[in-house]
Amino acid sequence: MNQELILVAGGGGFIGGHLVSKLRQEGHTKIRSVDIKPMDEWYQVFDDVENVVADLRDAHACRAACEDAAVVYNLAADMGGMGFIENNKAACMISVLINTHLLQAAADADVARFFYASSACVYNADKQRDAQVIPLKEEDAYPAMPEDGYGWEKLFSERMCRHFREDFGLATRVARFHNVYGPFGTWDGGREKAPAAICRKVIEAKTSGNLEIEIWGDGKQTRSFMYIDDCLEGIDKITHSEDLLEPINLGSSELVTINGLVDIVEDIAGVQLKRNYKLDAPKGVNGRNSDNTKIQSYLGWEPSIRLRDGMERTYRWIYDEFLARERAGAAV
Ligand code: NAD
Repeated sequence: MNQELILVAGGGGFIGGHLVSKLRQEGHTKIRSVDIKPMDEWYQVFDDVENVVADLRDAHACRAACEDAAVVYNLAADMGGMGFIENNKAACMISVLINTHLLQAAADADVARFFYASSACVYNADKQRDAQVIPLKEEDAYPAMPEDGYGWEKLFSERMCRHFREDFGLATRVARFHNVYGPFGTWDGGREKAPAAICRKVIEAKTSGNLEIEIWGDGKQTRSFMYIDDCLEGIDKITHSEDLLEPINLGSSELVTINGLVDIVEDIAGVQLKRNYKLDAPKGVNGRNSDNTKIQSYLGWEPSIRLRDGMERTYRWIYDEFLARERAGAAV
């Protein structure tokens, strides 16, 4: 049993919700989960956790959230898939207030560890023009030319973490997540990312009998996707590492094209769909993968859950959610 108070900022979200769940399973008894969303929109809510609805862009809310906390995980951000971040740059950048106020409050509260969730969107766009990618190493973030809006906020917040460590002695740790997916996340409504969006579209096609799918871009863009369980394990190892002071990649190195991802979901669903490519849709960089040399050398570990296995679990969850929503709609 561990009685240190742990703050999960963004605990109503996808990764934050899973983190709270894992901390409970590990025996933590004092967890504070804070999110701006009304609680009935949180993906996972636990009665034995101190659940707080608050806007962490506000400095007072951050002070209250950090009070007595030993460890802070900042997973709160206004974010979504490419369709959201390309069209909401100001909203994404305003999340800088969350991390800034949380850092200040954590330093004042003498928090022992502070984890910040950064993103592969910090990487220089010039290194991601070709679908035949050279995996991104940590130093490829500079010279800086990150994803406009969202990526700039992440890069700036990373540096805030570094300077709070150097100037105020706050033990900050930063991971650059590469596309995390899994159950209990956004799968509809405009903020969903490619794995969930593709699952939903395949399910819609299968259940409606209209055997077509719209794909954003030409489908040849490449990515890697990390299953949530690997992400949680990485967060834990990075947060508690003694020497991982600088931002580090946390991502799978299993590269796949978007067409390849659709192949996997079609196979899981047992259908084959006609593909319609929407070439003017937001599609992000042409190619991106995680170079895991550094995480291997520091932790002797890297994310390893196969995409096919993680997608199978994700598809099943979205399928059940989809059917539950259809049934609820039919009952109205
Ligand atoms: P999510 O949207 O499911 O969770 C983020 C949560 O933060 C949401 O529940 C949201 O309501 C909350 N939030 C937003 N503004 C807030 C505010 N002002 N005060 C309090 N809470 C607020 O997203 P996620 O996928 O769980 O992402 C968690 C973190 O990981 C984010 O920082 C995100 O940028 C980062 N990240 C995620 C991915 C990914 O693939 N999911 C990739 C790279 C980085």
